[in-house]
Amino acid sequence: MIIAGKWVLPITSPPIADGAVLVENGAIKALGSKEELILKFPHEKLMDFKEALILPGFVDAHTHLEYSPFRGVVADLPFWKWKLEITKLSFSLDEEDWECSAELGLMEAVRAGITALGDITKSGASLRAAVKAGLRGCIFAEVSGMDHRQTENLMKEMIKRLDNWRNESKNSLISLGVSPYSVYNSCPLLLKEVAEFSRQENLLFAIHLAGSRQEYDFVKYGSGPLAHQYRDLMGWGEFLWQPTGVSPVRYVENWQVLAPNTVAIHCVQVSEEDIDILRRYEVRIVHCPRTSSKLGMGITPLWSFIRKGFVTGLGTDSPASNYTNDFFDEMRVSLLLQRGLSARVEALSAEKFVEMATLGGAQVLGLDDKVGSLEIGKRADIIAVDISEAHEAFGRDPYSLLVYWANQENVMMTMVDGKILYREGNFYSLDSEGIISKTRKVKKKLLDS
Ligand SMILES: [Zn+2]
Repeated sequence: MIIAGKWVLPITSPPIADGAVLVENGAIKALGSKEELILKFPHEKLMDFKEALILPGFVDAHTHLEYSPFRGVVADLPFWKWKLEITKLSFSLDEEDWECSAELGLMEAVRAGITALGDITKSGASLRAAVKAGLRGCIFAEVSGMDHRQTENLMKEMIKRLDNWRNESKNSLISLGVSPYSVYNSCPLLLKEVAEFSRQENLLFAIHLAGSRQEYDFVKYGSGPLAHQYRDLMGWGEFLWQPTGVSPVRYVENWQVLAPNTVAIHCVQVSEEDIDILRRYEVRIVHCPRTSSKLGMGITPLWSFIRKGFVTGLGTDSPASNYTNDFFDEMRVSLLLQRGLSARVEALSAEKFVEMATLGGAQVLGLDDKVGSLEIGKRADIIAVDISEAHEAFGRDPYSLLVYWANQENVMMTMVDGKILYREGNFYSLDSEGIISKTRKVKKKLLDS
């Protein structure tokens, strides 16, 4: 099959005007101009998207898809109040609710041109939804607990869950990882044990790190709402929590958590010294600009991470905080915030953010040998983005069209591993109407509780 469009953006090589990609058995076999590929492969079926950009699918390096119906339930609260409210509401959902909630998230991700994701889940609902939909990604088993006496049990339970998930995701495009959620809900022993386990088992280790000012105050000074209201809500009030006197990054370093398999999410409340520590351990970074801005957590000093050569991806962090999976918006907001903050333009180009949204995310999730760019031999995770309504106003620079103009509604086609999952209003692996009607009930439950 030849997929053609106004521009092909391979990411690792310059854009090809009036370009095309040849896909065979789920892999990319050739790239070039449309004319050239049609001449060379006259018997291949042509799928011509005409006024469209053809590029690798977006890699959402951090999300919680099962929280999708929480959108609009808790709005305009600062991070810690939002976290408290979301946690309380989550107690009202049962297993079936999480399953269809994750399917809703998956469906929206596919519609938005996301072809791979890094999802943190306790229930495993996102794993089952991703397997069903045919999406690629790394699913992280969430674990948390402040009672250090429970560490052994929590580890056993997590390992059992991983075994089950391995069975459930056999022959799929899913790999597994582990994730003690954060420093404010996982005791240091648990952090250390999970990190050691991940290194032994060669799994990725994800953690929300240095996100909010409240997390910083909790670790360094042992104070603030995460040391009181949140711990009380979770029933951890009886466990002594003392100030450590160090930043969250220094704290996890002291507990031997950091390593090249660490995926650190947020990294907003970080000093240059913290950034240097993360660099020393070759930590991978996920930047969630819309979530951290919306919840008033602050702005990641992304320029420092880029300058220091970090592997960096973008994450939507779920519709519960962010409302949409729109990766165009994620790139746009990120670029504008960073340019405004650093007063730098050239180093923070639209091209750089498209790279971060595709190849960068794939590198974070260890998928860059298979996807993240359009190269011969890589798997065919490809999207088509309609630019006909831009009326060629920005016709010379396709990257700028993606970042400054397009939205998720412009995604015409989402292909994973050579299979079309979505095309112009139709989902091919998901029952969209069924999912929407089931999640309406979940939404009602959330609103009534
Ligand atoms: Zn998150």
